[in-house]
Amino acid sequence: MIITFYGVRGSTSVPGPQTVKYGGNTSCVHIELESGNDLILDAGTGIRMLGNKLAKKSTHVNILLSHGHWDHIQGYPFFAPIYQTGRDINVYISMESGRKLFNTLFRQMDGTHFPVKVEDLPSNNIPKFKGIESEMYEREGIKVAKQALNHPGGGVAYMINENGVTCAYVTDNELDPPYAQSTNYDQWVNYLQGVDVLIHDAQYVEDDMPHKHGWGHSLISQVRQLASDAEVGTLVMFHHDPDRSDSELDEIQIENEKYLKSHRAPTRSVCAAEGMSIHLSKPVLGGDTKIKIES
Ligand SMILES: [Zn+2]
Ligand SMILES: [Zn+2]
Repeated sequence: MIITFYGVRGSTSVPGPQTVKYGGNTSCVHIELESGNDLILDAGTGIRMLGNKLAKKSTHVNILLSHGHWDHIQGYPFFAPIYQTGRDINVYISMESGRKLFNTLFRQMDGTHFPVKVEDLPSNNIPKFKGIESEMYEREGIKVAKQALNHPGGGVAYMINENGVTCAYVTDNELDPPYAQSTNYDQWVNYLQGVDVLIHDAQYVEDDMPHKHGWGHSLISQVRQLASDAEVGTLVMFHHDPDRSDSELDEIQIENEKYLKSHRAPTRSVCAAEGMSIHLSKPVLGGDTKIKIES
């Protein structure tokens, strides 16, 4: 499994001199499976660059959407495979409001917000609302487990397991919300126990509170504690605040390393950056997952 980051920013895209190192595009993560097929987590503005690469392949394209907020769908009209004749693109939305969200994704292409209309696309955009677990197992040989996010309007986290190598995608999740929780802290610890790579929303710092409490995102300090409690292998801090500069993220990185070391956690932590790849593999004779991070 190779995980590559194409968009790591939350809320809105922020190109400019303050975001050169970590990137300014919104949420999009690519997972290349051992089969060579492609899983895409969310369709923020980062999906445009990924689409240009995938347009040169003829592999299965599977998109898993966490939810329908703008920063997770806005890149879809710019995703090159949707302009390829006959290309099958499966769009998985594992929420009760899946149909509504699928319509939201394509309402962007209504001739008003975007010049090309959805009915004029030559590709096959196939909605999948149910049975993601069994379908992914049959099509791709992977196991997928869902978990409900704590987020205004709802959303879904995904745990992907390919031959014992695991990656969890948990973005737009508030670990300590003022509203009713869909998943409580202990349930998160249980869900994420021992995962090789955890990609988690880490948008806020203490200075953002209490103003942004209830907006659906987590404090970085809460996320590193969760990673430590769940004995995660590698924590990837994701969905950076649009106002967080490269130098601030560098400082956060150092602070996290200190925290995890002082708590003797078996976890390493990195801030997600556009272009960063994580290679995960299981040794043939079994044992711990091997991980290599390239920036
Ligand atoms: Zn978001
Ligand atoms: Zn959101």
